[in-house]
Amino acid sequence: MSSIKVEIVTAERVVYTQEAEAVIAPGVGGQLGILPHHAPLMTILQAGELVVRHGGQEDALAISGGFLEVRPDRIIILADQAERAEEIDVARAEAAKQRAEERLKDRHMAGLDETRAEAALRRAVARITVAEKIKRRRNL
Ligand code: ATP
Repeated sequence: MSSIKVEIVTAERVVYTQEAEAVIAPGVGGQLGILPHHAPLMTILQAGELVVRHGGQEDALAISGGFLEVRPDRIIILADQAERAEEIDVARAEAAKQRAEERLKDRHMAGLDETRAEAALRRAVARITVAEKIKRRRNL
């Protein structure tokens, strides 16, 4: 089966690299599936779950938006923030989710930055989704 190198980096670190058979990324217009030999592409990602398939298994990462570039020899994801499933602190993400939900409950609250609260909520939900997925898999 053909494969392509995937690199997920933030401004601070290389989060993940893998020779992969497929990548499913959270594009702004919906899920984006990329296979080896995909045409060159640059696109914007939103906060969500990013899945990498390789050797009959799947790795999941939470990303909080960024850019995805498909080059002939690699897929590069430059993320604002990204965590591998095992790096995610679920309690922290639950607390962030709760804070964002509290803020969004009263949308007319003076000084509320609604866009910021919604983005924080999306990041938290992505982290919880990815962490729970790996937990479920370990319990199987
Ligand atoms: P919080 O309010 O908990 O800080 P946040 O969404 O505002 O969450 P970010 O600004 O996206 O946090 O990330 C700041 C740094 O903390 C990044 O390095 C990110 O990878 C890390 N991070 C944030 N939340 C978590 C988490 N739940 N588990 C592990 N790392 C996290």
